[in-house]
Amino acid sequence: MTQRFSKTVRDKVVQLVGPPYLSAVGRLESGVIRVLLVHDVTSDTLDWFTGVVEWIERNGGFLTPNEAQSFFRARVWPGPRYLLTFDDGFQSSFKAAREILEPRGIKVVFFVCPNFIGLRSHEAERFVRDFIFEGKQLPLSQDLCAMTWEEVESLLKAGHTIGSHTLTHARLSNVKDHERLHGEIVTSRDILNARLGVPVTWFAYPFGSIDSMSRKAHQLISDNYEFCCTNIRGHHLAGDEPSLIWRESLSGFEDLSYTKLVMRGVLDWRYYRRRKELLESY
Ligand SMILES: [Zn+2]
Repeated sequence: MTQRFSKTVRDKVVQLVGPPYLSAVGRLESGVIRVLLVHDVTSDTLDWFTGVVEWIERNGGFLTPNEAQSFFRARVWPGPRYLLTFDDGFQSSFKAAREILEPRGIKVVFFVCPNFIGLRSHEAERFVRDFIFEGKQLPLSQDLCAMTWEEVESLLKAGHTIGSHTLTHARLSNVKDHERLHGEIVTSRDILNARLGVPVTWFAYPFGSIDSMSRKAHQLISDNYEFCCTNIRGHHLAGDEPSLIWRESLSGFEDLSYTKLVMRGVLDWRYYRRRKELLESY
C-alpha cells in the first residue's frame, strides 16, 4: 500500500515538475555526458527499453564507446550525450542489441562475468541467485539466460565493446584474499583478452555502490584497466578521471516518465557526497 501510494505521488511530481525542469536542465547540459546502466531487457520490458532508446535519440543522442574514450582522454566532447552500458551478460541484452540497437547503428559497452558466460538454464539461474542476488530470494525473470561465448564474440564483431565485470560477480569489498582479488579483477580480464583477441580496458564494479568498493580493489583495477564504472549517479565533463565513471542505473520496472527524469540527472544531487568521498579518497 505504501509503495503504491509513493509511486502515485512520484508520478504526479514527475508530471508537474518534469517539463519545466527538463527544459532548464537541457540548456545546462551542453558538454556533459551521462553513462547509463541497464541489466537485462526481458520480454516484458522491451517496450520500455525501446522508449528509452527513442527518447535518447531525440534528446542528445548516443555516444559510441570510442567517442567516450576520446571524451575522457582528449577532452573532446563529441556532441552526443549518452553512453549505454549493460552489466552481467544476460542473453536478453544480446537480443536487445541485435533487435533494437544494431538496426539503429548504436554501439554500447557490455560488462560480462566470464564465469557466467555460457551457463544454461539451471546453472545460469543458480549463478544469478548465488552471486548476482547474493542468495536473496528475488523473483527471477522467465527468459533468464546467460550469453554464449559466440554471442559475446559476435557483439565485439558488430562494433560493441566488451568489459570485465569480475569473474564471479564478486562484491569486491568482501574479498580480502589477494589471490582471489587478483583472479576477480586481473584473471577475468586475461580470459576476455585471450578469448576475444582484443585488449580489454573497461571494468564495471559488481553492485557498484560505495560499500561494494575498496581502495585495495580500486588500486588493482586502476593498474589493469583504463575505464572503471561505478553505479554512483552523476554526469561527466571532458577530461574527467576515467577510473571513476558515474552511471545512471535504469530499470524496466519503472515508468518511462520516471526513467526520463533519471536520464536527465534528476537524482544526481543525492549522490554528491558519495562522489566527493570517492574522488577524495580513491
Ligand atoms: Zn552486475
